Amino acid sequence: MKKILISILIVLLVAATGVFGYAAYAYITTDEGSAPHPSVEIMGIELAPVSILWNEPVLRGALYKDVSREETGLSGQLGEIGLAPLPLRLSLPEGFENTVYLSDGSAADGQEAASRAVPPGGQNITGRDDVILAEGIYTLEIVCAVSQTGGNGYGSIRYSCSFEVGKAPDPELSIGKYELKQGEILPLLLTGVPEGVKPEAETELGMTVFTPDGGGSWFAAAPIGNSQAPGRYNIKIKAGGWETETEITVITFEFAKQNLIIDTSNPTISEANSPAAYQEYREKIPPLFETFDEERHWSGVFETPAKGRVSTEFGTIRYTNGDYSNSRSHNGMDIAAPTGTPVYAPNAGRVVMAERLLNTGNTLVIEHGGGLKTYYFHLSKLNAAPGDMVEKGDLLGEVGSTGYSTGAHLHYEMRIGSQPVSPSMLFDENASLYSLETIH
Ligand SMILES: [Zn+2]
Repeated sequence: MKKILISILIVLLVAATGVFGYAAYAYITTDEGSAPHPSVEIMGIELAPVSILWNEPVLRGALYKDVSREETGLSGQLGEIGLAPLPLRLSLPEGFENTVYLSDGSAADGQEAASRAVPPGGQNITGRDDVILAEGIYTLEIVCAVSQTGGNGYGSIRYSCSFEVGKAPDPELSIGKYELKQGEILPLLLTGVPEGVKPEAETELGMTVFTPDGGGSWFAAAPIGNSQAPGRYNIKIKAGGWETETEITVITFEFAKQNLIIDTSNPTISEANSPAAYQEYREKIPPLFETFDEERHWSGVFETPAKGRVSTEFGTIRYTNGDYSNSRSHNGMDIAAPTGTPVYAPNAGRVVMAERLLNTGNTLVIEHGGGLKTYYFHLSKLNAAPGDMVEKGDLLGEVGSTGYSTGAHLHYEMRIGSQPVSPSMLFDENASLYSLETIH
């Protein structure tokens, strides 16, 4: 009996030693290498962890072994990674609670850096507005954690990475011409404008709107109206925090003078010339001066809209029936042509008006972008409607003599904002407007 009892004790002892031995063996052989290595990428560069705090399950989770370690290796020192502003591209692993903090460089004086959470998740967060960075030094801290026991263990893996976002080079301004005649157009080109920044121009010359040309280039056309006083004019240009100033000179253009003989007893003429006609004009046309399309529709040379003889040039100073005490500037050019002569779009644009007015007769207006518009008066027929996008050479209507007109002709006017500019100068490919590469 005693012998049997001893035998059982020996068997139990051997078994216990085996279980204990196995447990001890399993515990000892569970090593640091078994902690997970989630993949964290910034701007396409894979980061190595700076520290791993991890508890690895032993014997199916009966025990946990602390396999934490500090990594001495470089986690991420990306150096200067780009220009401001820059979209931060970050890729995070799935199956972890990812926490990302971005700190600016304000910790230099020992104060805590201003940090903000970057949206976590397994996806790429490319191009999000809230991670567009200004120039400076940043630290990105990423903690990938598992808080629940079971599975492959629990703990956290920390990554840290610093990088510098460099200063973007200043935009560059190109100017077509520094001395312009009344009626000319000044082209401005701004290149190297950071993404998301819309440049603005400030000048007494009139409406000057930058329209995007792609790849950080922006184009603007500033009017030198026919009645712009000669002298020097300042143009201030701003793009984000950057600004510059430039100066151009306006010189006199000798416009022709003309005495117009009008039969004021003709009832059609007197209606077209009545206070009601001018009231209607003021209600319909000047409000268009304030509008502009954000993109440039036109490109290349503006072609003549109708075949015919130029009967009155742009800017002609007009007197009526020999009354030299009153003069008015002719703000467009007149092309005399038989009724029914087709009128074509001189360049691409958007039709913003096509209707009959008392003074200007059948009237059509095209916005070519950035507030540059062409106006067509006295048409016998309108072949386009507001909202139509037209290409160079598209039929707009036909020449006529509707409204305040003494014979069939097209009154062709061009304005930037409210300032009348010369449409005939633009038939020449050497016109100041085309003096910058971008237009061709
Ligand atoms: Zn006219």
